[in-house]
Amino acid sequence: SNGSSAASESFVKMPTIKFTKLFINGEFVDSISGKTFETIDPRTGEVITRVAEGDKEDVDLAVKAARAAFDHGPWPRLPGAERGAIMLKFADLIDEHTEELAKLDTVDAGKLFGFGKAVDIPQVAHMVRYYAGAADKIHGEVLKMSRELQGYTLLEPIGVVGHIIPWNFPSSLLFAKVAPTLAAGCTMVVKPAEQTPLSALYYAHLAKLAGVPDGVLNVITGFGKTAGAAVTHHMDIDKVSFTGSTDVGREVMQAAAKSNLKAVSLELGGKSPLLIFDDADVDKAADLALLGILYNKGEICVASSRVFVQEGIYDELVKKLQLKAKDWVVGDPFDPNVRQGPQVDKKQFEKILTYIEHGKREGATLLTGGKPVGKKGYYIEPTVFTDVKDDMLIAKDEIFGPVMSLMKFKTIEEGIARANNTKYGLAAGIVTKNIDVANTVSRSIRAGIIWINCYFAFDRDCPYGGYKMSGFGRDFGMQGLHKYLHTKSVVTPI
Ligand code: NAD
Repeated sequence: SNGSSAASESFVKMPTIKFTKLFINGEFVDSISGKTFETIDPRTGEVITRVAEGDKEDVDLAVKAARAAFDHGPWPRLPGAERGAIMLKFADLIDEHTEELAKLDTVDAGKLFGFGKAVDIPQVAHMVRYYAGAADKIHGEVLKMSRELQGYTLLEPIGVVGHIIPWNFPSSLLFAKVAPTLAAGCTMVVKPAEQTPLSALYYAHLAKLAGVPDGVLNVITGFGKTAGAAVTHHMDIDKVSFTGSTDVGREVMQAAAKSNLKAVSLELGGKSPLLIFDDADVDKAADLALLGILYNKGEICVASSRVFVQEGIYDELVKKLQLKAKDWVVGDPFDPNVRQGPQVDKKQFEKILTYIEHGKREGATLLTGGKPVGKKGYYIEPTVFTDVKDDMLIAKDEIFGPVMSLMKFKTIEEGIARANNTKYGLAAGIVTKNIDVANTVSRSIRAGIIWINCYFAFDRDCPYGGYKMSGFGRDFGMQGLHKYLHTKSVVTPI
């Protein structure tokens, strides 16, 4: 009845797995404990391979390597242009390995292979180039002092950085952090998500080939409570840059406070609103609303999970959504006709289905979807709830899956107030032809990015991050570089 199809054998394209060990000081090494963990293919629930399980002792070794590379190694001391040149080589190598990297993220995270190959991985290379171009343009300013003093500022790399990465964009969210950290002249320890460790190790190999000196980029695969916590509690890490859930973000801040007061930036969860006004083209608005919640199977922090529709076009939009959701093909992410792959793992799959049951029990109407697809793997139908009330769990919690909550509103003031009625503040979308409405809503929504008549319009030059409990600090753009720099003021009498 709908376009969904379960994972089909004909599209199974396993990549060759080359790197499964920790990457410390330029070498692939086993964990000290010798322990490994399974990484699972969400298309089937089967094990792809086992990966070294790093823990506190391994993080210690990686931090020692990163500290030595920072205090004595060439990287922070190289002229910016030379760091940039190595980064450009790194970007070219990423381009040469696009297919392999995209395959790794598809089998690890269930991401669409075609998208990875054509968009996601090429964007990673461009992100490295963008920051490579900034590496020789990092400079302070001459100060206008009020007395007989001469003053200027120096921008210096912040030191050893710990990066903690989520599983939903194992490549692009990794590089939103790694690329500017390299350009700044910092050294780092990366802890990828345990669900998606494979591409980060492959990138480490390419960094070495490009000439990134040993100790600059270290990768410790392992779990959050062990390896991740060892990073956040470490006494010799100068900054932690975290992307993940709001709950863990809170733990990251606590760990920083209890250890060495390391600097922290947090990119956390969201429950982003999309406001569709009466003057919108209903067909286009329906497409945008579906994209906003189904892209990357809803596993994206800026997903438009709350869709507010003005009453004049509500009924028509509901009809369109119902038809269009049925044409949205769910299945093997290697299949070029598929628009939605499996959820990342069993835990996420079950969590989403539990929320759907909640929605039904709370009295929302299931317009479409709501069930798993196929007999194996972690596929879920595109799901749309209507008659959602603002205080229902499905309208408040971040579900992180293909589940839309549709709500009706009357006036612009009501729309703004309800859109802001959330603890999160990551993104918002507005669909209208009226420039005054677009401007008023943009200024009134408390969120880090506003998309007018578009959604997910990311760009490496466009800062991105949260208000409220969606965190603080910005990735991308020059702000995404400056978060890895200290400002030092130098003053002398004249
Ligand atoms: P998560 O918070 O469970 O895990 C994220 C990372 O933190 C993983 O690498 C994990 O191993 C690590 N971790 C877990 N517990 C830890 C601990 N106690 N100490 C240190 N590290 C720990 O999140 P997730 O389930 O992997 O990702 C989904 C969440 O990430 C969603 O809430 C989503 O909104 C958020 N997210 C935010 C952004 C953003 O840019 N704001 C982007 C993507 C995902």
